[in-house]
Amino acid sequence: MVSPSKRSANKVFKKMGKVIYKEDKPGRAQCANCKGVLHAVPKRKGSELAKLSKTEKRPQRPFGGVLCGNCTRRLVKMETRIKHGLITLSQADFLLLKFARVKK
Ligand SMILES: [Zn+2]
Repeated sequence: MVSPSKRSANKVFKKMGKVIYKEDKPGRAQCANCKGVLHAVPKRKGSELAKLSKTEKRPQRPFGGVLCGNCTRRLVKMETRIKHGLITLSQADFLLLKFARVKK
């Protein structure tokens, strides 16, 4: 009988009737706003990720491991412009507003 952890794994049928169970590889970490690839975030499964130190898991900047560099740059610009009254909340990027650290 197949072990319960391998029941959902992909089967690969080899010659001579041998069956190999392949685990799914983890995908790349995605930006929460634009779904782009997050750089400097390792592509490993949970047990291997737990062995890494905190600073190896994500960039050490605001929104590191959540937003990509481009979205973070746009968000910081937008927050600053709202803070100094150059734009209003209605003029701000609606999709980025949920990450903004300004009062709504
Ligand atoms: Zn992004």
